[in-house]
Amino acid sequence: MKAACYIRAASLFYICTNHFHLPHEAISVFDMFKIGVGPSSSHTLGPWRAAQRFTNSLLQQNRLQEVIALNVLLYGSLAKTGKGHGTDIAIQLGLGAEDPVTFDVEQITAKMNDIMDMKKMVLHGLHEIDFDPREDIEFLMSESLPYHPNALTFLASFKNNDQVAETYYSIGGGFVKKEGEKENSLNAVQLPFPINTSEDLLHWCRKTGMNIYEVVMENENAWRPEKETKEAVLNIWRVMKECIYRGCHSRGELPGGLHVKRRADHLNKKLIAGKPYDDYNSWLKAMQSGGNSFNYILDWVSCFALAVNEENASFGRVVTAPTNGAAGVIPAVLQYYIAFCGDNHTDKIIQFLLTASEIGSIFKKGATLSAAMGGCQAEIGVSSAMAAAALTECMGGTQRQAMMAAEIAMEHHLGLTCDPIAGLVQVPCIERNTMGAIKAITASQLALQSTPDFAKVSLDAVIKTMWDTALDMNSKYKETSDGGLAVNIPLSLPEC
Ligand code: SF4
Repeated sequence: MKAACYIRAASLFYICTNHFHLPHEAISVFDMFKIGVGPSSSHTLGPWRAAQRFTNSLLQQNRLQEVIALNVLLYGSLAKTGKGHGTDIAIQLGLGAEDPVTFDVEQITAKMNDIMDMKKMVLHGLHEIDFDPREDIEFLMSESLPYHPNALTFLASFKNNDQVAETYYSIGGGFVKKEGEKENSLNAVQLPFPINTSEDLLHWCRKTGMNIYEVVMENENAWRPEKETKEAVLNIWRVMKECIYRGCHSRGELPGGLHVKRRADHLNKKLIAGKPYDDYNSWLKAMQSGGNSFNYILDWVSCFALAVNEENASFGRVVTAPTNGAAGVIPAVLQYYIAFCGDNHTDKIIQFLLTASEIGSIFKKGATLSAAMGGCQAEIGVSSAMAAAALTECMGGTQRQAMMAAEIAMEHHLGLTCDPIAGLVQVPCIERNTMGAIKAITASQLALQSTPDFAKVSLDAVIKTMWDTALDMNSKYKETSDGGLAVNIPLSLPEC
């Protein structure tokens, strides 16, 4: 508790601001889609990245070898649902300089057991200290820092009795901000087409005659050559489709004690009905040969979304899109497009993901991607809007129809709360991805059959409404597991 008191005193000097949207923040497609490990972007990926940054900063200051003790303090939502979301696990892996993109997820349990048994941690893979996660990671259930509900502080003690404390905020979608740092300082690049709102995006589309994905690609060119962007976007899709495939072929129970049974494997078997396949491509052909009835396609879309989020809940490798809790929506809709709208061309896959990313970044700038700030509308709602716009553009819709689709998808997620049972990203999260995917397809179809001139609600208006709703939402429904399903389903788990 000594460590906690030290930080509380320090935070008295911290000036609070909740308004952290900066003018023309540059967000790349690879900020919106990040390869990582489940189950949560804000509670797993963000803290993992924060831990990596902290040990890196000690290394840069030549102080890593001087560390004799380390405490990690978790505040607010990270404290309340951190156990169920694997926050402590992510922090230990990050402190050890493991990378969420490449770390072999099969090794997580062994690695955690090692640290727990030995009560030792090798900081940044270089310097061993005594570390007992049961004591040195503190879940401060009744404390929050004012800037953001997802806060964590690293407190290092040195041989010369010095201490250093660094506080980080996991602000949603795996984005991390260090206290005192400008949010866009790591991404300072001048984009040819700066975009904060959907009106900005439409302006550039009108002015240049380009589609949404072409505007996005021009902006991406400010970071790297187009060829590299295309390869990296296709790599994102490779990880997404491997995740779908793996999830559709994995049985058993999800970890965490809720005893949730995996369903994607069972549904996949029913749908495939004995058709032979050995790999993703032959599986795709088998699924396409099964017809195109409404129920058949509906079942497949659900199956894709369940598969990704069952993998996510099992600490599997997923793409944050734009969060982990909502990681199944975009892959499910893109897989639907490939399988049932007849287009597996790589250009279309790139187009889909570029357009989706721009819609997500507009939501991040105008509202939030953090369930701890805005509830589930910020996760499933945003991913559904992203998928709806991308599908619409790929299906030949105009830019305005794409934005209309995004608006419709969000309009019908407004007010959606976050209340994961036992703090696990399982119930209602996994099924909720099927709903987000289906709503995206419905929103897209509605927009394709509509004239945007007659739309009453613009995408910018719905983004503002989402943010207003987030501000009004009771904090019980913001990733705390203090309300909703989390308190109405009786369980006796320690995480609760
Ligand atoms: S309820 Fe929604 S926002 Fe909350 S953890 Fe689940 S998917 Fe994420």
